Amino acid sequence: MNAAVYHGPGDIRVEKVSDPKLEADGIIIQIKACGICGSDIHRWKIGGVKEARMEVGQVLGHEFSGEVVEVGANVRKIEKGQRVVAIGVGLRLEVPGGFAEYVSIPLARLKRTVFLLPDEISYEEGAMLEPLVVGISAAKKGNPTVQDTVAILGMGIIGQCTAQVLKAIGVSNIIASEIGKKRLALAKTIGAADIVINALEEDPIERVLEATSGVGADVVVECAGVPATFHQAVDMVRPSRFDMEQKRLIPGGKVVLTAIYERPIEWLPNRLVFYNIDLLGMMGGEGTFPAAIDLVKTGKVDLKPLISHVFPLDQAREAFDTHIKTDESVKILIKP
Ligand SMILES: [Zn+2]
Repeated sequence: MNAAVYHGPGDIRVEKVSDPKLEADGIIIQIKACGICGSDIHRWKIGGVKEARMEVGQVLGHEFSGEVVEVGANVRKIEKGQRVVAIGVGLRLEVPGGFAEYVSIPLARLKRTVFLLPDEISYEEGAMLEPLVVGISAAKKGNPTVQDTVAILGMGIIGQCTAQVLKAIGVSNIIASEIGKKRLALAKTIGAADIVINALEEDPIERVLEATSGVGADVVVECAGVPATFHQAVDMVRPSRFDMEQKRLIPGGKVVLTAIYERPIEWLPNRLVFYNIDLLGMMGGEGTFPAAIDLVKTGKVDLKPLISHVFPLDQAREAFDTHIKTDESVKILIKP
């Protein structure tokens, strides 16, 4: 079969590889759509970071949907012909991912590693459930009340999904900051953000303080992964204060980091200490797949407008090249 194989930083090639092997506990899925993740871009561009290295020969792609074409002898409740999404592959050399015609899921357990796609959800939307799951996890980690102000820095797919999830649970004050024109416009048109900041033209910290009567954001979700946005996040989050009426200390807000950083950050962490601010990291969120499916099925989250490009598998190189043009790209899907 054909697959997009990693050969070194910036070098991905579509070539013939051996067909995936069916395991007794697994299934084979024919890929219908597979999304490029921001984390794939870090791997492809610089060979990964310490926690997630890239090896030559690796086939990426962990955000995919497809049709079950083979089922292992020990697998229960999963049948040929079913439309599914699956997790657990596409991040390491040993378990090739979805930038290919077929993928082997070595351990196929319904509702654990494999999820059925309802008819209402297209394959394209199915391939975006994984980033939506990350958005749900970010919302849970920040855990705002409906009155809270949440600032989201970076409106790529994770920022967009987080904003829509927060809207769906009733959070009414969402501020989005971004530098890419397409992503800014999208945050506005989908209505996921109440205030949209073009960080190239305005100071995001000032705008957030202005919008919150000088208090700061209750929760900041950092989805951009560059030193500037990290600093902004920590500087725009609400500090702790003593409430005279309640006679108690109201703790500072939360900063949730969802992005991967390619470079170290020089940073004086005193603001965290003085103002009781929580700095939290997170990744993935397997347990929230059913919630993600439900949000899309019921129309509370609309993933379709987030697809900016669709490329055939043999143009995987162009697809990766396009992803780093943040002025144009949001979610890029590859279809075999
Ligand atoms: Zn991903």
